[in-house]
Order: sequence, then C-alpha cells, then structure tokens
Amino acid sequence: MNIPYGRQNISQDDIKAVTDVLQSPYLTQGPAVPAFEKALAQRVGAKHALAVNSATSALHIACVTLGLQKGDSLWTTPNTFVASANCGLYCNASVDFVDTTPDTYVLDPKALEDKLSQTPQEKHPRILVVVHMCGQPADMKKIKRICDAHNIRIIEDASHAVGAQDQGEPTGSCKYSDITVFSFHPVKILTTAEGGMALTNDDRLAAQMDRLRSHGITRDPELMTSGDQGGWYYEQIELGWNYRMTELQAALGLSQLDRLDTFLKKRHLILKRYEKLLEEVDVVLPQQREGVYSALHLYPVLFKDSQTRKTVYEKLRAKGIFTQVHYIPVYWQPYYQAMGFKKGYCPVAESVYQRTLSLPMYPDLTEEQQSYVVECIKEILND
Ligand SMILES: *Cc1c(COP(=O)(O)O)cnc(C)c1O
Repeated sequence: MNIPYGRQNISQDDIKAVTDVLQSPYLTQGPAVPAFEKALAQRVGAKHALAVNSATSALHIACVTLGLQKGDSLWTTPNTFVASANCGLYCNASVDFVDTTPDTYVLDPKALEDKLSQTPQEKHPRILVVVHMCGQPADMKKIKRICDAHNIRIIEDASHAVGAQDQGEPTGSCKYSDITVFSFHPVKILTTAEGGMALTNDDRLAAQMDRLRSHGITRDPELMTSGDQGGWYYEQIELGWNYRMTELQAALGLSQLDRLDTFLKKRHLILKRYEKLLEEVDVVLPQQREGVYSALHLYPVLFKDSQTRKTVYEKLRAKGIFTQVHYIPVYWQPYYQAMGFKKGYCPVAESVYQRTLSLPMYPDLTEEQQSYVVECIKEILND
C-alpha cells in the first residue's frame, strides 16, 4: 500500500453531513457557511470569519482589503507555497522575501529588522505575509512589534496551522495581525476539499472581504448610492470576485472541526514516535520554539546534503512511500526568476531546501507504517 506525506481523514459523520446538504434546499449561500464560520471563529477567538473557496482567494481579498496596490510592496518568506507571494502580484504590487530561521523554518524577526534597516523607507512593504511553516506559529509578538514601528500591516498565512497555539494564544485570534488565513486543502489539518477562511477582529476589513468574495455586491442600504429600491435590489459598489465556499464544503468543514483536537493529538503522537525512531539516524529533526503548540501539518527532516536527500526521496518512492519537498524557494520559480531574483538571495531558506524532505504525517498513519518508513530510511542511509 502507498504511504503519502499527507492525507485527509473522512468519517461517516462527514459523509452524512455532505449528503444531508445535497438533499437540502441550499447547495450554496445557505446556513452551513455561516455555521462553519461561527464555529471556527469561536474556536480560535476571532471576531469575524469569512469562508472562501481557497486560502489563495483569502490571501487575495486580504491584500485588496488592506489597500495593496501598484507601487506597493509585499514581503514574505521564500520557503512557502507560491500563493503566499502571488497574492501581492494579483494586486500589481511587487514582492520581496525575508529569510527564515535555520531550525524552525519560519520568518526570522532579526532578518526582518535587518532587511528593513537596509531598505529605503519608500520601499518598505505595505504588507508582511507571515507563514506558519509546518503548523508552527512564527514569533508574532516580536514580528508585530517590528511591523508596528514601521507601519506595516500583517497577514498570517496559517494555511498549515489550524489549531496551533503560541503561549496559549490560538493561531487565528489575530491578536498580532490584521488578518489570518486558513487553508482546507485535503493535505492540511482540516479539509473542505478546496476551501479557505479569512479571520479578522476588524469590522471594516470583515465587511469588505465579505463583499469582495461575492462580486463587490452589497445589500446594505447604508452603502447604496440610490438607497433601498425593494427586496430584489442590490448594488455593486466595488470590483469583487466569486470566491464563495459552497454549502457542501462548509458542512464538511464543520463536521471535520469536531475532530480537530483528535487530529492534533494524533499528529503529536506521530511526532513523538518519529523523535524516538530517528534518534540514532543521521538527520536533523525540526525544532519547536518554547511555548509553541504546532498543528504539525508537515514533518520535515534534513539530510546531510542534497544528493542524500535525492537518493532517499527516490528509493522511498520505489517502495511506495511518497515524501515531498517543502518548499522550492518561491523566487527560484521561473516566473520570479524573470523578475530578476538571484539564487543565494535567502541563504538559510535555500540551504534548508537543498536538504529537506517531509516524511509522512497525517492522523491515519499507523505505527507499523511509521516504523516501516524509518526502517526504509535507515536501510537507504546504510547502503
Ligand atoms: C496550501 C497553501 C496555500 C494555498 O492554499 P489553497 O487553499 O490551496 O489555496 C497558501 N499558503 C500556504 C503556506 C499553503 O501551504
């Protein structure tokens, strides 16, 4: 049987939740979406939650709502999925990258401070997208202090980090950011097949993101130029998109949310087992900052060099174990290379990229499968 690096867990309750929606009057724009939003907002302690059809869409409307436009700059880390940076390009802003820590793979506050001090004021970013890599929150308290001093808005890309905490503060509470974004792609912590959420404590940001996910249309007479003309009447007051989540997706998400703590516990059990099984193996294990409770979306280990990583990847694959590399530095992508980014720009993230491999990490990974993965790695390294 094949062992992937991540996969969803679907229960009978999940299936029933989705089929119930199929038999209900509303497949979209019904009660399931607000119910899912309310439940997740309550869980993480945010005032508003806006469900959308992907985290990529959430990042886009977050950037628009924070006023990102041509002439502005958005900064993020290079070791992330391309969407964390692309959202800046959607707004015709420029994108730049801040290096990460060598052991937790999240944005390094020191690197941010250094880069800001070396960058002329007019090229400072309007927005910083902080990625909670592998499910571990970055040091938001420090990062917010730096950003506040420079008038930079913060989006947390918590695609990996539903259920994470830092010093007891849940990721998504937006205590240290303007907006937090979650992803519900099947490899992430909770799934809605495709889907995402934008959370905020700011009423104005929430109201605008609500409009932007649905064409820029309002039904609020206060915002209309012609006032309310009747029950059928709506006005488009800005340019938005159709980024709505369906009722089927929201029902699945709501049902999944019941098992969030179970999922997290299982991931932490798998972490403990890896730490034990890999004790004598020549790999560097990922570290957790003091006081952090990671959602453990990914479990990346570093091999001694890129050739070893490649050999291990290929030989595991031949045995039906499908690991993955997270991530190719975004600015190594041809699309970003064409903007003039040079290799060597963020040396820490690049060095991690050369050696990293994400081992299987998901709730249904069995003890036997996990032992088999580690046995195979040992065998390959001893070859
Ligand atoms: C998965 C992911 C996204 C995009 O999520 P979608 O829901 O697939 O759009 C964005 N950022 C990070 C860090 C991700 O891992």
